[in-house]
Amino acid sequence: MRRMLVAGNWKLNGTLSTIEELVNGIKQGLDSVSGNCDVAVCPPALYLQHVQQLAAGSRLLLGAQNVCDQDEGAYTGEISAAMLNEFGCRYAIVGHSERRSLYGESDELVARRYAAAQRKGIIPILCVGELLEEREAGQTESVVGRQLDAVLASQGVDSFAKAVIAYEPVWAIGTGKTATPEQAQDVHAFIRDKLAALNKTVAESVVIQYGGSVKGANAADLFSKQDIDGGLIGGASLQAEEFLKICQAAG
Ligand code: PEP
Repeated sequence: MRRMLVAGNWKLNGTLSTIEELVNGIKQGLDSVSGNCDVAVCPPALYLQHVQQLAAGSRLLLGAQNVCDQDEGAYTGEISAAMLNEFGCRYAIVGHSERRSLYGESDELVARRYAAAQRKGIIPILCVGELLEEREAGQTESVVGRQLDAVLASQGVDSFAKAVIAYEPVWAIGTGKTATPEQAQDVHAFIRDKLAALNKTVAESVVIQYGGSVKGANAADLFSKQDIDGGLIGGASLQAEEFLKICQAAG
């Protein structure tokens, strides 16, 4: 059976003190979350060490919001996978739609970031998902397929044995509009089938999260679907109580 993974993407939010309150709040409620669900938070990089210290001794896992595609050198402003390793990161999000749309990250760059994470034993959380106009034009599968193909072409299907995929329809991120459980399940099944055509074992074991306006109130319905293995949570991960409700729904 696949494990579930609920990960909070804090984006550009938090201060030393609000983060302390948030992590302590999450830690207090972790006993109420099923042992089959991994729980992670992805703070802004500058706060990774702070969260690492606050979470020490608990089952709360740590992730980064991005990772450089290069291992070291003259790449101003970037943070390498080796650096993330030093601060206990298990995960790194790559290809989040905000990175793709606001910072122009291409499928190829995302694939290189994915590879850089894996070179240092960090599990990439590869975000894929279509824009509203692409969904309306019936292009959801071709867009998600193309985003996956960039990684498959360079890293191969076996690399997904050590990766997580997050299906995040862009029109559902931060908008309050969640995909219905059926809409999400259809795309998750498409992703799993696409990988299964290349390697059934890898496809069966890869964790595929859903992301896009997940809340305590809608998480259980989404997570009840066969191919939805937890969530990547933005806004609702900034409040301990709401985030814990989502984690509990993954039980
Ligand atoms: C996200 O940014 O990955 C996300 C899913 O955000 P939200 O939950 O706020 O829609």
